[in-house]
Amino acid sequence: MRRAPTILHLDMDAFYASVEQASKPSLRGKAVVVGGLGPRGVVATASYEARVFGVHSAMPMGQARRLAPNAAYLVPRFGLYRAISEQVMALLRELSPLVEPLSLDEAFVDLEAGGRAWDAESARLTGIKLRADIRAVTGLTGSVGLAASKMLAKIASEQAKPDGLMLIEPGTERALLGPMPVRTLPGVGPATGDHLRRVGITTVDELAEAGEDELVRLLGKAHGHALYAMALAHDERPVVAEREAKSVSVEDTYDVDIHDRLRIGLEVQRLADRCVGRLRGAGLSGRTIVLKVRRYDFSTLTRSETLRGPTDDPAVVREAAARLLDSVDTTGGVRLLGVGVSGLADYTQEDLFAQALPVPAPSAEEPEGGVGEVAPERPVAVERQWRAGQDVRHAEYGPGWVQGSGLGRVTVRFETPQSAPGRVRTFFVGDPALESAEPLPLVADAAHPPARLGQSDSDRHGAPPRTPDGGAGADGWGGNREQASDATRVPDGA
Ligand SMILES: [Mg+2]
Repeated sequence: MRRAPTILHLDMDAFYASVEQASKPSLRGKAVVVGGLGPRGVVATASYEARVFGVHSAMPMGQARRLAPNAAYLVPRFGLYRAISEQVMALLRELSPLVEPLSLDEAFVDLEAGGRAWDAESARLTGIKLRADIRAVTGLTGSVGLAASKMLAKIASEQAKPDGLMLIEPGTERALLGPMPVRTLPGVGPATGDHLRRVGITTVDELAEAGEDELVRLLGKAHGHALYAMALAHDERPVVAEREAKSVSVEDTYDVDIHDRLRIGLEVQRLADRCVGRLRGAGLSGRTIVLKVRRYDFSTLTRSETLRGPTDDPAVVREAAARLLDSVDTTGGVRLLGVGVSGLADYTQEDLFAQALPVPAPSAEEPEGGVGEVAPERPVAVERQWRAGQDVRHAEYGPGWVQGSGLGRVTVRFETPQSAPGRVRTFFVGDPALESAEPLPLVADAAHPPARLGQSDSDRHGAPPRTPDGGAGADGWGGNREQASDATRVPDGA
């Protein structure tokens, strides 16, 4: 392991929800939940204000609504999230050629490979400057962890949240990790956590004290070895430059083998839902559905099925996983189940539209209705055309966003990222003066021209900073459509 804390982990704070709060002044400081609003939707991101009520990502939306009935529930605007992610990733790539994105809002950076940092002091200064740059360019906060390994850098950024920086000095890792709960370590989920607690292991120190042989006996060879190394803070994984993660998967190990075929089926459905929650959380969709089954005798099978096009539809993933399960013999019991999606693709604009709509074809939903549903069926009051959180523009009142709709009416709040909290007005859903619009940029272009994002590029080409169109600058109302299009379509500002 390297001697200096030059691996950086960046994690934007409550990313989707923070983008929504930055876009919508009336939601700042309020509970905001972003995710699928249909009856089967799950939470993609909850603002810190919503987390106070216990709302967290991957939770069924119905449960979130019960916990935080007064929160704002919004559909995701992946186009905007992706544009902002590009801005952030561009800042990271200025630091090093080795940038490993984990999702739209999270990445490892090898600062040493970029010649940016060689010791604790230079690493800290780089992290501080990065946070300031991210704030200036996006208007958002991200937390930074710095350490000599990926595992510790990620733990550090988690500890630093929100809006902070934490550096773990090499040599202090074990003292820091020791008292932490085992769940802090990557790969220790609720099941493993429970399993370990039952044998009296709750902290990382206790894990290390148990010794490698004991952990292998308790958790199996691969997991036991890996966990022991992590408990000693050993992590040699290099930062690998990749455009994006290749697959998203979730799995659960069961303390007692499951024999009941029905229960196995329900577990697979649940895992499929969780997997889709992650997929959506990362703004991705995928074509290949993978089922993993470890049987009572530790034999492990994977089965996969490739769809015609990418999906992030929970019903589609559930069905594919169920079909795959049909081909697996589970007599004797299973000790682990997993569901994954690979062959990932970013959302396209068309996908987005389809994904965000509640439930386009009720008939296709009926047969599935009774199968292990967690989210309660509630009447969907969302009009087909207007979804909560969607950007709109009114011919007379200008840009705004849909606060809600139903009973033939749509309520729009007229405000922009740079305005004061705005007023609400209600229209008939068919009002010809109201149309959907592109998202507005979070940071006014005049203050931070896009050239800022790719300094080396603009130097090379001598591109002048773009000036806003007439009337756009001061109040941010006129001419914003133009800016919005640019910000969305040319995120790297070239
Ligand atoms: Mg994050």
